Amino acid sequence: MKTIGLIGGMSWESSAEYYRLINQDMKARLGGHHNARSLMATVCFEEIKALQHAEQWDELGRLMQQAARRVEAGGADFVLLCTNTMHRVAPAIESVLNVPFIHIVDPTAHALRLAGIRRVGLLGTRFTMEQDFYRGRMRELHGIDVVMPGQADRERVHDVIYEELCHGIVRDEARAEYQHIVAALAAQGAQGVILGCTEITLLLGQGDVALPVFDTTALHAQAAVTLALG
Ligand code: GLU
Repeated sequence: MKTIGLIGGMSWESSAEYYRLINQDMKARLGGHHNARSLMATVCFEEIKALQHAEQWDELGRLMQQAARRVEAGGADFVLLCTNTMHRVAPAIESVLNVPFIHIVDPTAHALRLAGIRRVGLLGTRFTMEQDFYRGRMRELHGIDVVMPGQADRERVHDVIYEELCHGIVRDEARAEYQHIVAALAAQGAQGVILGCTEITLLLGQGDVALPVFDTTALHAQAAVTLALG
């Protein structure tokens, strides 16, 4: 079994989900007292969040490189970054790693392709929805078109992530708002919806919306277990 390297803390609420899902999946596949071999480098989200909102992506890239080097030096056979947003600096991370990096878009796109989906809605932080690092990879590498919510809805989705979900606050009112936003994405022709922020899984699941849901936290964690056993 290979050792999974995780860069976490963005926020720790979702890193805890990764840890749980990876270990549960490993146990489901191997039985007994099996769990995954893993290590996580955790950064402080207060610092990360401030740099994100100041659009200091070069500095964020350096911080992610440091964390990536730590997990590789600790014995990771490959690395996952437990946040969609910080994939904005994925090229910087990959440039310092000597082991594979599982980009969160790739297992998500694989699941979309398997489901026959070519046009998909995206929920995530403003950075993930609006900048091209995420939608561009979906389109150019995987041939999938991404639809995003309108501006007011994007702001609402973003604020719920930072002000509620990253603090572990899960409210029915926020879920209802997200449900409306997903319905609007369906009206724009989306055939499915990507939960493109690793905390959204705390708020919304397949039982809450009619569109097929693609949960990046679960898909990324599952890909890690498959590679660890491959
Ligand atoms: N975990 C979130 C994501 O997947 C947001 C927190 C962050 O900005 O890293 O994008």
